[in-house]
Order: sequence, then structure tokens, then C-alpha cells
Amino acid sequence: MHNPGNSTRFQAQDRFAEGAQYIAGRLTKGTSGRTHAVVDPATGQDVYTYELAGTQDVDAAVAAAREAFPGWAGATPGERSDAMHRFAGVLAERAEELAQAESLQCGKPLKLSREFDVPGTVDNTAFFAGAARHLQGQSAGEYSADHTSYVRREPIGVVGSIAPWNYPLQMAAWKVLPAIAAGNTIVLKPAELTPLTSLLFAQAATEAGIPDGVVNIVTGAGRDAGEHLVGHPDVAMTSFTGSTGVGKRVAEIATSTVKRLHLELGGKAPFVVFDDADLEAAVHGAVAGALINTGQDCTAATRAYVQRPLYDAFVQGVADLMASLRVGDPFAPDTDLGPLISHAQRDRVAAFVDRARSYARVVTGGVIPQGDLKAGAYYRPTLVADAAQDSEIVQAEIFGPVLVVLPFDSDDEGIRLANDTPYGLAASAWTRDVFRANRATRDIKAGCVWVNDHIPILSEMPHGGYKASGFGKDMSAYSFEEYTQIKHVMFDNTAVARKPWHRTIFGD
Ligand code: NAD
Repeated sequence: MHNPGNSTRFQAQDRFAEGAQYIAGRLTKGTSGRTHAVVDPATGQDVYTYELAGTQDVDAAVAAAREAFPGWAGATPGERSDAMHRFAGVLAERAEELAQAESLQCGKPLKLSREFDVPGTVDNTAFFAGAARHLQGQSAGEYSADHTSYVRREPIGVVGSIAPWNYPLQMAAWKVLPAIAAGNTIVLKPAELTPLTSLLFAQAATEAGIPDGVVNIVTGAGRDAGEHLVGHPDVAMTSFTGSTGVGKRVAEIATSTVKRLHLELGGKAPFVVFDDADLEAAVHGAVAGALINTGQDCTAATRAYVQRPLYDAFVQGVADLMASLRVGDPFAPDTDLGPLISHAQRDRVAAFVDRARSYARVVTGGVIPQGDLKAGAYYRPTLVADAAQDSEIVQAEIFGPVLVVLPFDSDDEGIRLANDTPYGLAASAWTRDVFRANRATRDIKAGCVWVNDHIPILSEMPHGGYKASGFGKDMSAYSFEEYTQIKHVMFDNTAVARKPWHRTIFGD
């Protein structure tokens, strides 16, 4: 497995010896009295043991964010933008360290961390550095002859954010960047399994000159640190990315404390192949779209619906391509697919496939690799066919390298099946017919619909769900709608003591 002599390997225990909490610009140890081990999922070995945050650490982080808020909110957009441009520069300098740490804690192939997670994060940071200068209120004018009105767009205050383990660096970026660009301060709780790159990200912010307390990290368990952060009276907004089940719990707490809420939840993206599609493109798109990040991607292609004339060739093509992929050490240059995030997640995915064997056909995969890979959380890329639309494997979010394929006949049926789950995060349509493409993009209920591709994201474009995939947008200028509040300011223009409208209260 990994070469222990590899000098670029991220040394988490040394790097974060002072602890996994980052509060007011300093690393500290958590005070929950419990520890957690970050495990390298490729080997099953512990790489970093740290003290989990307790409620006192959340209180300290929120207090730091609250103290930093007036200064940061009062900085000019140009000052915030300058600091964030420097932030992008520090991240770019640290690109290799970030990629190594991300691959170590997640098990994702180094080529994915280097070519997707890290450059995406640097680009996001640069985008929000620019966008910080373009926050706009609308409509200044006299909407009544007696008054001048205008709209101010203001930050909300301290944002409490909670992130999942699948893209820890990008999730930290998506949460932190629009929040601070708009003048908020933030306390981010990464997943316990993957704190390393969130900590590096926050340290880079400090190094770039973003004031202490603007970006804080508390690394603790969901049940105590997470719920305490969501319910905290000094937190003005909750932004959560994770599963729909946990999102419902977070929503209950946030709602009962009257907080602004942004939820990015689970997905079960359909991949709809019409009979005029380029078959080779669809096969390659399906395998890449299903297996990116070992399938642990909320927008991953999970349900391929293929119009009957292409169905058999598509199943064969996908099975062959999946079988050819090189599953192995994330740090080896020829690895296509790393392990899942943990043995528990691998076993959960394997159990979905094992249950499906009684009602569907496993065309390829469905296997836990042995030999050299036995100690890691590996699972072979898996294609399942002949499942009913209402079966568990078609309806539930699996979050692993598993694609289900189903045939359809009419265009209406393909679109109906694509919409037939509780989720609505992302989808794709594969066709060379502009009318079919236009119809699919209009009628599929999802926050993103790709045509003849599946997965690419852009800093300039919004990401967010419909239906049980949540509400609100990450990335793009649209995310400012989540992280700002709108104030109507109204000036009297008459300078008279007795306004005409007072007649409704006193007078005839
Ligand atoms: P999860 O819901 O188990 O955990 C997410 C975060 O919530 C973690 O930090 C966890 O510690 C915390 N948490 C757990 N219980 C909590 C509680 N009671 N109160 C407060 N916080 C709590 O999700 P996961 O397993 O880490 O990630 C996978 C899920 O994330 C999938 O469902 C995936 O679709 C979703 N996801 C969605 C998007 C999106 O943009 N929509 C992006 C990435 C991942």
C-alpha cells in the first residue's frame, strides 16, 4: 500500500498536534472528554487521534465569531475582497499539501484531489473574492411621492455550518466563502471522520490576513457539538450539507430557534439515455458520473434509464468499462478508484447490493476485493439491472460505486421515472435531439440538469436541490441570497409633522 517513506505524505499527528479545533485563529484541543481517530480508509490504520469538540468549544467558537463580526461586517467590500484574493493565493501555494491531506483522510485518488477538489476550491475562493464587491441592493427611488426608499443587503451575523465527509475541502469552501464574502463570520463543523482539510483551509484564511474569529472550526460529533451549534442563540443562520435524515433533525432545531436555514441534502440522480444518444458518450458518462469519488457524490449518476433500442448495448458497455477500472491505493498514479470513506460505509453499500440480489441482477461488481486490498474499505464498481422502479436499490441513496440500470419505452415514461424518487438534486439527459433535450431540462425536477454530460460544476453556477434534496444554493452569486438579509430603508421627504396618512388614525 502507501509507501511509508513517501516524504510528501501528510503527517497529520505532527501538523495538528495542538488539536483539531480552530477558534479565534488558534488550534486547541476539544474538551468533550472523548477522542476520535481519523482512519486512512485505504489501509484501515489510524492517522490522527484528536480530542472531539464539546459544547464548551462550540460556545467559545461562537463567541469568537460574534466578537469578530462587527469588524468584518464593517470592512468595505474591497477590503474583504483583497483578503479573499490573498486567501486564494495561499490555498494555491498549499495545493499539494491540501491534496495529500484530502486523499489521506478520504481515500480518494490523488489525481481527483489534485485535479478537482483543490483547484475547484482555489477557483471558488477567487470567485467569491471578486463577488464580494458585487453585492447589490436594488431599487432606490420614490415609490411614493412623499418618500425615498432603498434596499440594503446586509450580512446576517454568525453562521453555523455543518458539512459531510465526502468532499471535506470543497464543502468547507462552499460553506465559508459566500458567508464571509457577504460579511458574516462562521463556525463550521466538519464531519468527525475528515477534519484535516477544513483545518488547513481555516489556517490559510488566517495566513491571508482574514481576522481571527472570522473563520472557526469545531470538530465534534453531530449529536452534541452539531446540535449545540444549530440551537445556539448567538448563531443567526444554519447551513447544513448532509443526509436528508439528519437534515430533518437540523431543520427541527433551527426552526424552533427561528434561524435562517439552508439545506443541501441527499440525491439519487437519474441519467436518462434517449435512443438517439451517442452510445459511447453515454457509456463513458455513466461510468464516470456514477463512480466519481467512489460514488460518494450527492450528484452522482445512480439510476440510468435507457430507451429500449440502446438498452442491451448500454448495459454491456457499462459493465465492460466498470470491470476494466483499476481499484487500489489512492496514492498510486494509475489508480482510478479508491476505497470508500470507511469500512462501515463499505459494508452499508455491500448490504444494499446483497439485499438486491434477491430481486435484481448484479451484472458486474458486488464484490469486496481481497488480497492486497483486503485491509482497506474497497468495493468493486457495481452495475445492477432488472430491479423494479419501486425497489430499495432504485429509490434509496446508496452513496457508493453502484449504478442501477432500467429500460424505458416512451420519452414520457423516461421522464416520469427520472422524477420518481423523493430526491431532486441533479440529473442528466443524453440525446442529440434539441427538442428532447429541451423537454428533459424543462420537465425533470432537479436543481441541475446536464445535457450530454454529468458532474461538472462551476463557481459561477448555483448548486442546490429540489424536493427532499433541500433548498437554497451553494456557489455562484445566488448563494448570497442565503447569506444576506434585505432591509428596506424609507425616508420621509415632506418634513411636515402631520403626514397625510395620519388621517387614518386621528382626524376626519
Ligand atoms: P450525515 O448527514 O450523516 O452528516 C453530515 C454532518 O452532520 C456531519 O458533520 C455530522 O457530524 C453532522 N451530524 C450528524 N448528526 C447530527 C445532528 N443530530 N445534528 C447536527 N449535526 C449532525 O451525512 P454524511 O454521511 O456525512 O454525508 C453524506 C450525505 O451528505 C449524503 O446524503 C449526501 O447526499 C449528502 N451530501 C449532499 C450534498 C449537497 O450538496 N446536496 C453534498 C455532499 C453530500
